[in-house]
Amino acid sequence: MRHFAVVGSGPAGFYTAEALEKAYGDRARIDILDRYPVPYGLIRFGVAPDHQSLKAVSKRYDKVAESASVDFIGNVSVGGDVSVAELLELYDAVILAVGAPNDRKLGIPGEDLAGVVGSAEFVGWYNGHPEFADLDPPLGGTHAAVIGNGNVALDCARILSKTRHEFEGSDIVGHALDALDHSAIRTVTILGRRGPHQIAMTPKELGEVGHLEDAVPVVDMADFPPPEADEPLEPGLRKSVTLLRGFADLEANKSKTMVFDFFAKPVAIEGDGRAERIVVERTQLDENGAARGTGETYEVPASLVITAIGYSTPPLQGVAYDERGTKFLNDSGRIADRLYAVGWARRGPTGTIGTNRPDGYEVADHVVADMPAGSAGDRAGAGGLKRLLESRGVMPTDYQDWRKIEQTEESRARPGCPREKFVRVDDWLKTLGR
Ligand SMILES: Cc1cc2nc3c(=O)[nH]c(=O)nc-3n(C[C@H](O)[C@H](O)[C@H](O)COP(=O)(O)OP(=O)(O)OC[C@H]3O[C@@H](n4cnc5c(N)ncnc54)[C@H](O)[C@@H]3O)c2cc1C
Repeated sequence: MRHFAVVGSGPAGFYTAEALEKAYGDRARIDILDRYPVPYGLIRFGVAPDHQSLKAVSKRYDKVAESASVDFIGNVSVGGDVSVAELLELYDAVILAVGAPNDRKLGIPGEDLAGVVGSAEFVGWYNGHPEFADLDPPLGGTHAAVIGNGNVALDCARILSKTRHEFEGSDIVGHALDALDHSAIRTVTILGRRGPHQIAMTPKELGEVGHLEDAVPVVDMADFPPPEADEPLEPGLRKSVTLLRGFADLEANKSKTMVFDFFAKPVAIEGDGRAERIVVERTQLDENGAARGTGETYEVPASLVITAIGYSTPPLQGVAYDERGTKFLNDSGRIADRLYAVGWARRGPTGTIGTNRPDGYEVADHVVADMPAGSAGDRAGAGGLKRLLESRGVMPTDYQDWRKIEQTEESRARPGCPREKFVRVDDWLKTLGR
């Protein structure tokens, strides 16, 4: 019997477990470990609460968790409760699927002022992430800014711009919904260092902001090249740019605006003890497509500044780390003997949920090549792990525990919404009678 530990229960962890289960059948036991008592990683804590159809992918992961060879072991932090070296003693292979949970820093003065938050924090706050439940982002001013030109930036801007009514059917947590409902923010400026042709926003997400109940997107046509320059763009990007151009025709007849400010590089955040404005330098593209400052600066008012410029994987003791790429150093998913990486921890923080599937299957193929199905293994697996955790006073959760938590969250839901999430680890554990 082979024993495999997949560390992380986000998409990458689940697709890898699914692939290993298919490859080994009942000749392997696959444990999916997670630091939280509940599974799914960014499906629960990242994907926007008003995008329920995407979150439904977790139903597929449930099938994996329910299969006879797979166990979920939650409430276990690798690097804290148990080390990677210890897991390698206990398991034939360890696959790190820990994602990239840390916000990348801008590296400009004023970044540490109150009122400046990373997108992981802000997104975690409205999605019920236990570490960010107390974030309390300042929503009392009229201006906010989001720095970044990807879908996460757009998620943050959209969440700030929606009405309470528009959150019906979502699983936004109650404390965030109430705070957003009382928000005074009327203008959200989205700052991008480069232009409309360089955005990483997809058509579905852009299309959505053109139809908000009480907010209208605003673009400056001077930022756009002539329409014929869109022709050579990849079709998805061309569609996004067409949608952006269309925003110029919308009437500004709503109470909130979402301003797309292109060729805008933040150089400082200023304010008296807290963020009040961003100093922005106008840029232009050089011959390599990089943004170069022109020296011209201006100010964008913002008492809430959300940085959405990417994420990094925190290092784990004993695991080779690629400082530049902010992920584990790996060769097609192989880190070292019997140690692998998958998902954002392998590739860096890019790609959709679906991108993690081929990734997981590829890494599982490496495991199969290194440890052919049918070959013997003599590691202790979950039994040994649980003994070790018990000796350290760590109480893991299992898949049945998760279903109990899920059912309780569903029973607490507001009318028309799928669930009211618990936002504290203690509450999850109390639900289980611990
Ligand atoms: C804000 C946001 C919105 C997004 N929206 C979309 C979208 O709408 N559509 C789409 O296709 N993609 C979206 N994505 C991208 C998608 O979420 C990622 O592609 C995917 O989640 C990456 O999967 P992963 O398994 O590598 O990482 P994650 O989903 O981050 O999973 C990592 C898991 O590892 C666990 N973990 C971390 N460290 C440890 C540790 N030390 N010990 C134990 N467990 C640990 C975490 O708790 C987590 O469960 C979004 C991403 C973000 C950030």
